[in-house]
Amino acid sequence: AQELLIRSEQLSIAGELAAGIAHEIRNPITSIKGFFQLLQSDTLKNNTYYDIILSEIERIETILSELLLLAKPQEMNLVSINLCMLLNDVIVLMDAQANMNSVLMITEFETEELFIKCEENQIKQVCINFIKNAIEAMADGGKLVIRLEKKGNEKVLISFIDDGCGIPSNVLDKLGQPFYTTKEEGTGLGFMVSKKIIENHKGTVTIESEENKGTKIELTLPL
Ligand code: ADP
Ligand code: MG
Repeated sequence: AQELLIRSEQLSIAGELAAGIAHEIRNPITSIKGFFQLLQSDTLKNNTYYDIILSEIERIETILSELLLLAKPQEMNLVSINLCMLLNDVIVLMDAQANMNSVLMITEFETEELFIKCEENQIKQVCINFIKNAIEAMADGGKLVIRLEKKGNEKVLISFIDDGCGIPSNVLDKLGQPFYTTKEEGTGLGFMVSKKIIENHKGTVTIESEENKGTKIELTLPL
C-alpha cells in the first residue's frame, strides 16, 4: 500500500509538471500559429507545406489542451449539475462526428434529474473523451448506448457501451499509460486524463472489453 501511495504521489507530481509545461508552451504556440496564418496571405500562398505545418501546430495544441487537464484546479470549484443535462449537451456536441461515422447514440436515463457536485467542464471533457473513443472504435458504424443510473443513495453510474472493435488485452494493459495510442491521429492522453479527473472527483472508472464485440466503460461518481 505504501508503494502504491508513493507511486500515485509521483504520478500526480508528473501530472502537475506536464500541465505546467503545457501551460508555458501554449502561449508561444498560439502566437506562432497566429503569425504563421498571417504569412499565408503573401509569401506562403499555395505552398504545399503550409497545410502540413498548420496541422502539426494544431496537433501540438490538442496535446497541450489534454495535458492541461492534468492540472488539479487550485480549488475544485464544485457546482451542482444535472447529469442528464450535461450528457445531453455533450451528445449534441458529438452529434456531427457520430453521424459522419454512422454511429447511433442511444440514451438510457433512469431519471430526468440527477444532480451531482462537480467541475462541470472537466466532467464534460471526460464524457466527450469516452464518446469520442467509442465512435472511433466503430469504423463501420454502430451503436453507442449512454446509460445513466443511480446506485443506491451514494453513487451514480454512467456507462458508455459500444459495439466497436474492442480492446485487445495487450492494449488494455497499456491503457492509462500516457501517449499510448493505436490511432494514427491519436494522442494517447484521453483515457489517462479522464481517469485522473474522475479520481479527483472521488469516482472510479472500469473497463470491460471483448475484441470485435465492443467495450463498456463504467464510471461512478459520488452523489
Ligand atoms: P487516443 O484516443 O488518442 O488513442 P486514448 O487514451 O483515448 O487515446 O485511448 C487509448 C487507446 O485505447 C486508443 O488508441 C484505443 O486503442 C483504445 N481504446 C480506448 N477506448 C476504446 C474503445 N471504446 N474501443 C476500442 N478501443 C479503445
Ligand atoms: Mg481518445
